[in-house]
Amino acid sequence: MATVSFWEQEEFLRADVCIVGAGIIGLSLAAELLESQPALRLIVLERGSLPTGASTKNAGFACFGSPTELVRDATTLGIERVCQLVEQRKRGLDLLRSRLGDGAIEYEQCGGYELLWGKHTRVLDHLDELNVLLRPIFGSTYVRRADERIAIFGFGQAVEHLLELPHEGRIHTGRMMRALLGYVASRGALVLSGTPVERIETEQRSVTLIARSPTAGELRFRARSAAVATNALVPALGGCIRARPGRGQVLITEPLERLPWDGVFHFDEGYFYFRNVGTRILFGGGRNLDFEGETTDELAITERIQTQLEEYLHSVIVPGAPVQIAQRWAGIMGFREPALPVTAWCSERVLQVFGCNGMGVALGSLVARDAAGELATLLLHE
Ligand SMILES: Cc1cc2nc3c(=O)[nH]c(=O)nc-3n(C[C@H](O)[C@H](O)[C@H](O)COP(=O)(O)OP(=O)(O)OC[C@H]3O[C@@H](n4cnc5c(N)ncnc54)[C@H](O)[C@@H]3O)c2cc1C
Repeated sequence: MATVSFWEQEEFLRADVCIVGAGIIGLSLAAELLESQPALRLIVLERGSLPTGASTKNAGFACFGSPTELVRDATTLGIERVCQLVEQRKRGLDLLRSRLGDGAIEYEQCGGYELLWGKHTRVLDHLDELNVLLRPIFGSTYVRRADERIAIFGFGQAVEHLLELPHEGRIHTGRMMRALLGYVASRGALVLSGTPVERIETEQRSVTLIARSPTAGELRFRARSAAVATNALVPALGGCIRARPGRGQVLITEPLERLPWDGVFHFDEGYFYFRNVGTRILFGGGRNLDFEGETTDELAITERIQTQLEEYLHSVIVPGAPVQIAQRWAGIMGFREPALPVTAWCSERVLQVFGCNGMGVALGSLVARDAAGELATLLLHE
């Protein structure tokens, strides 16, 4: 049986706060807490060798919601709440950019577009209303028609209309997560990879997080409080916020000789999305083709969705161009109804944080800021 040294016990297994999950929310929460309390002893426990959630697998859209998405969400949340959500995404993205710097995360406000055809063209009736409602958030037009660019961009014949979203941007997902890891480490956080937490016990004045490491066996981390930021994964840990997993599948092509467009693009209520990475095309989505099958946390790709992605690639995005697929992957998002960010205390000392519903790049930092406020209040009052 593995044993633990006195030094390990003192320095690696004791903290003021233990955060479970090194995704954008877990790491942003660590950043928030250390910015306001630099002397805090903080440990982040991550089950994977790399963070194995959505934060390193996503498409890097720094987006606020396309018109068809916002109109769809308004039917369940109401338009006022949808506008608040857009405002939260804007503030969250501003926070991420100011914390890490645009250079470090390769942020570019490259502009975005939504491609419309069929029933989705009905959204054209809502553009004026969206512009009026969202102007206070962006300070200028949220969406404008750009049909004249359909031919310039060389899209397929199915595309009936094009909408331009000038405030949309993109990041380099890998750089952002490396920068965030470096940021929290430079402020004293200990991030332990390969440490899956199996359960959390709450005592009167502390919590114990029980993890199992392949090399060290069972490890018991003691802290004053804990935060669970595991997205939809491992509901047994948090338990008070029920979210379901939703798999997202992606492909990226080999570099093309040239691309007639540059930016981030959506269609079909945001269920499909593509962007360029240099002259490569990163294209993902299609969960709506098989909601049941994609409600899973299995990191696998399926023929059905990958075939549809390729079909759209050839018929809509770059018709006639010779494209070769370089890589395919899957990542797991978390969804709940209503699709709003939420934090909840699972016990007096264990806070669960959830919030992204598939759009964490922009929103994650702000969700973490709210959670940090709750944890700071607990720590302050003892
Ligand atoms: C394919 C794909 C494309 C996407 N594209 C975009 C996009 O373009 N723009 C956008 O805004 N959003 C996008 N998203 C969504 C975005 O990535 C997520 O909303 C965001 O990353 C969620 O962050 P998180 O910190 O909540 O969760 P995660 O990043 O999932 O982090 C949770 C972490 O917890 C860890 N964990 C789980 N269980 C345990 C345990 N028991 N012990 C220890 N650690 C544990 C996991 O390994 C993981 O690292 C996309 C997602 C996917 C999958």
